[in-house]
Amino acid sequence: MSKSLHARRLNMQAFAQEGVPLIETTLLQNMERLAQEAKALAPDSTVNWEARAELRPGSGADDDVWLHLVAKTAVPLTCQRCMGTVATPLEVDQWYRFVATEDIAMAEDDESEEDLLVMEPHFDLLTVLEDELLMALPLVPMHDECPVAPVLQVGEEALAAQAAEAGEKPNPFAVLAQLKK
Ligand SMILES: [Zn+2]
Repeated sequence: MSKSLHARRLNMQAFAQEGVPLIETTLLQNMERLAQEAKALAPDSTVNWEARAELRPGSGADDDVWLHLVAKTAVPLTCQRCMGTVATPLEVDQWYRFVATEDIAMAEDDESEEDLLVMEPHFDLLTVLEDELLMALPLVPMHDECPVAPVLQVGEEALAAQAAEAGEKPNPFAVLAQLKK
């Protein structure tokens, strides 16, 4: 069984009992939803991640399974100011506690600092990782400082050309005022 397949069908109970962390590198192209958000993703772009599980005494008779997930990558996104590519660092550092059912997760979610996951016999760790990376995406990706000045919109260019034809020096404030009408 390949390692990435292993991470998609993980026996969490055994993983926690063994206590041996999974330290992996996964191609971003294997995370379809995240790859769709990216702009011109390089085929060799990867996410480095580490998962470690442990057993802790819980409220029930059996120990609870806890999972710590840490990941680091950078995804090329479209800058919403200059429309260029902005390499956006993404980091995940999250604790989870496994519960038996969806109902318990719903009931305990508000009072828990950690995130709750429902135990499954073959747990898909990579999907949880992808969910976390998607949630870490900025709402409006943007360079701190754009490498090039923002290009004029078509409308602004036309107005500037009109003003130039009329023999006037285009006044950026006048252009703006016209645009606002
Ligand atoms: Zn930019």
